[in-house]
Amino acid sequence: LILNPIQRPQVTHDLSENVVLTTVDDLYNWARLSSLWPMLYGTACCFIEFAALIGSRFDFDRFGLVPRSSPRQADLIITAGTVTMKMAPALVRLYEQMPDPKYVIAMGACTITGGMFSVDSPTAVRGVDKLIPVDVYLPGCPPRPEAIIDAIIKLRKKISNESIQERGDLRQIHRYYSTTHT
Ligand code: SF4
Repeated sequence: LILNPIQRPQVTHDLSENVVLTTVDDLYNWARLSSLWPMLYGTACCFIEFAALIGSRFDFDRFGLVPRSSPRQADLIITAGTVTMKMAPALVRLYEQMPDPKYVIAMGACTITGGMFSVDSPTAVRGVDKLIPVDVYLPGCPPRPEAIIDAIIKLRKKISNESIQERGDLRQIHRYYSTTHT
């Protein structure tokens, strides 16, 4: 960089202190992980813990998370509670209505495996990942708000390593309901 002292003021300080080098991926990921908007989705007792997290005690907003009631305004869904066969098509539809890029945290034993309903229940889905792709699994019955925060931090780390070129190929919706019930 050559500056003409007649036309421009002399630069006396070290330019290296004022230059930030980054990549498009890093910038894009930083913006994305800093403004995750989760959709409110609760089907059973796990949602009580998620509701507690939204309160002021856990300072949920510090991560840039803003709960939304519409899937069209959300890029994260935390599946809190048991998912039944009857609820399955509604969940898939909600997921499809979310704009890309979008993420899923499977919260609680019931969501991850069917939990206590996995033995005898004819109506519980044995794993929400059979319906939609899951980014982070959060075990527990129920997971405490601190554990939800830990899952969000894990998701943020995952997002920070993504490439905007590859992201579109990563998303494959698993149509569990349509393949097993038609
Ligand atoms: Fe309820 Fe436990 Fe199932 Fe969560 S994992 S929905 S707390 S039974």
